[in-house]
Amino acid sequence: MMYQKPKGTRDLYGRDLMRIEKVCSSARSFFFTRGYQEIRTPVFEYADLFIRSIGETTDIVEKENYTFEINERRYMLRPEGTASVLRAIIENKISLPRRFLYIEPMFRKERPQKGRYREFIQIGIEHIGEIGPLYDAEMIEHGKRFLDGLGMEGVTIEVNSIGCPECRTEYKKVLSGFLEPHISELCADCLRRKERNFLRIFDCRNEQCQEVYDQAPKITDTLCRACTEHYEKVKHYLNAFSVIFRENKKLVRGLDYYTRTVFEFKAGNLGAQDTILAGGRYDILMKELGGPDTPALGWAMGVDRMMFTLPEGKPAIEAPEKFFLVVMGKTLFSRALDIRKVIHDHGYVCILGDHEESVKHQLKKANKLQANYTVIFGEDEARENACTIKDMQSGKQEKVLIHALDDFLAKKVRI
Ligand SMILES: [Zn+2]
Ligand SMILES: [Zn+2]
Repeated sequence: MMYQKPKGTRDLYGRDLMRIEKVCSSARSFFFTRGYQEIRTPVFEYADLFIRSIGETTDIVEKENYTFEINERRYMLRPEGTASVLRAIIENKISLPRRFLYIEPMFRKERPQKGRYREFIQIGIEHIGEIGPLYDAEMIEHGKRFLDGLGMEGVTIEVNSIGCPECRTEYKKVLSGFLEPHISELCADCLRRKERNFLRIFDCRNEQCQEVYDQAPKITDTLCRACTEHYEKVKHYLNAFSVIFRENKKLVRGLDYYTRTVFEFKAGNLGAQDTILAGGRYDILMKELGGPDTPALGWAMGVDRMMFTLPEGKPAIEAPEKFFLVVMGKTLFSRALDIRKVIHDHGYVCILGDHEESVKHQLKKANKLQANYTVIFGEDEARENACTIKDMQSGKQEKVLIHALDDFLAKKVRI
């Protein structure tokens, strides 16, 4: 019996994992300097939390989640980060305003494709307790500068405002009037969404539907005064932050909880599924989840898809030099450990050879493990209180006295 990993998952190791870890550690230091603290929430929560926050008519809740039941309680593997962060703030009575960063795996039962997995890593930030449009713009700027720092090129930023519940009631009337004569041109999904979650019809991927929506009045044109003012200021601050963006009046985002500002970052080379970062404001969600009436905003980035679009060799990985210590015979073993310690203390990798194996066998292993250097400690070396260091690339070797090894490693490695 040969076991296989579930569809849409992967095993991460070697260079791929090192690149992901590099991106995550860059995120930690970048967002720390911008006032974000890291938060970790459970991998699973009571399913109700996500159903309430993400919305019953979303793809995630309708068909893409991993739900399981134990003792008549339903749980869901976390499909996104925001609901959990808000739940944690409410439950732990965390004082506000506050900025949080999360770097965690999420789970969605989507059709696997390029850079898209059913277990995927998201980097997300949440800024809770601020109403000012300055922070909408600043949060977009954070995303842009972070991606710039990773070496990302060709990212376009789209923004829109989908207003508050009041603007939406007004817009729903206007839109329904417009759609009336076009009903027969819309797909079944859109007809269903039109009733239950009408803004989301704009997310439809059906071309015929999109042709209708191109002509439709947009929510941005029927915003209330306060929402119009907020949106204008967001754009003003984006300019002040020197962030280049494009307005996309059809941008609504796939989750129910957004209000006012929404935005997406797109990478040119991913085709139709080109969104790598997305977010917005969600001023009513905290209250909806039973917390205080608190404005908030956030975004999340799919690390895997984002990395797909990074230029070759980014982020750069510096793997430390690797030494393989060949020890000849058990009498030399404890002295060999001193050599090993010096190498480790310099931050290099040092793999200890098994002195019960032949020298030939140990050297073979050094090759297999792709050591940059082999360090040989045999009878001759022991007598002279030295070791022989061989550069596996150039083939050159040098005898180094053990008491001078520290200086040798500090000064240079290449022989
Ligand atoms: Zn409004
Ligand atoms: Zn449609």
